[in-house]
Amino acid sequence: MGQRTLTMNETVIQKMKTYYDKTLDNTPQGAIFRARTDSAVITAYKSGKVLFQGSHAEEEASKWETNASSANTFKQVNANKKTSYSPPPSLFTANHIGSDESGTGDFFGPVTTAAVYVTSEQIPILKQLGIQDSKAINDQVVQSLAKEIATMEIPYSLMILHNEKYNDLQAKGWSQGKMKAMLHHSTIQRLTEKLGNTPYDGILIDQFCQVPVYMNYLKSEQKTVMDNTYFMTKAEHYSIAVAAGSVIARASFLQEMERLSNIIGYKLIKGASSQVDRLIAKIIEEKGKPALNEIAKLHFKNTEKAAKYM
Ligand code: MG
Repeated sequence: MGQRTLTMNETVIQKMKTYYDKTLDNTPQGAIFRARTDSAVITAYKSGKVLFQGSHAEEEASKWETNASSANTFKQVNANKKTSYSPPPSLFTANHIGSDESGTGDFFGPVTTAAVYVTSEQIPILKQLGIQDSKAINDQVVQSLAKEIATMEIPYSLMILHNEKYNDLQAKGWSQGKMKAMLHHSTIQRLTEKLGNTPYDGILIDQFCQVPVYMNYLKSEQKTVMDNTYFMTKAEHYSIAVAAGSVIARASFLQEMERLSNIIGYKLIKGASSQVDRLIAKIIEEKGKPALNEIAKLHFKNTEKAAKYM
C-alpha cells in the first residue's frame, strides 16, 4: 500500500473537499475531511498535512502536487495566525481590560477570576501603588492592594467557582482548563456589560492554554470569543489590568479560604503539598470524606495521597 503526504493551505483543502464530495467518509479527530475513493484514502488534517493512502496513493497525490505548499510557507501562515492573538505593545499603555485567575493549583478553596478595566491615565497610578503579579507579593500586601483598587472606582468583575460546583463540573467531564476558559469568558462579559459604551482598545487574557483550545472550550458551550481579545503568557508582567486582575482574584481566593477554614474548623493550607495531605487525613477522620466536597477540588491526587496518613 502506497502512502504520500503533501502540505496544503486551507483554500486548497476546501477545494479538495468539494472535489471529493461524493466519496466523503467519517472525519477522524484532528482532520478536516476524509475521502475514500476506489483506489485511495485521502485525509486532510487541520495542520495542513494531507495524507494519501492506498493502491493509487501516488497517482491521487500527483493531481494536487502543484497546489502543495512547501513546508516553510505553511509554517509562516500558521505563525501569522498565532501572532494575531498576541497583543500589540501599544495595548499595555491604552485603555484596556485584563483578566487573570487564582486557586487553580490549590487543593482547598475555589477558583476565582477577575477582569479589570484600566484607563491609560490610571496605569501610572496603579504602577506606583505597587500593583503587580499577585504571585510576587505576600498575602497581606495582596489584600491591602485589592482594597486600594476597590477605593479607586476601577470597574471590575469577579467570579468565584465554589468547590461544590467545581466538583460537579469535573464529574461531568469538564477539565480544569474548560472551567477556567468559561470563567474568564463570563467574567469579561460581565465587565463589558458594566462598561456599556466605554471604549477600550482590547481585552488581554493571561494565557493558560493554546488559543485554539480556548476557542474550542467556548465553542463547546456555544460561546465565541469577544472582538479584540488577545492572549499572552505572563501577561501580568506587561499589563497593569491583568496584574490588577491577579490581585483581585487572589484576594478573593484568600478571603474564601478564611471563610472555608471557619466552616470546617481547621486553618486550610494553600497549595497541594504533603502538608495538605496530612490536613485532609485529619478532616476525613473527624468529619468524613463528604465534608471535602464543599472545601476542596476532589480530583486532585491529594485526596488519594491523604490515605497514607490515616
Ligand atoms: Mg494567570
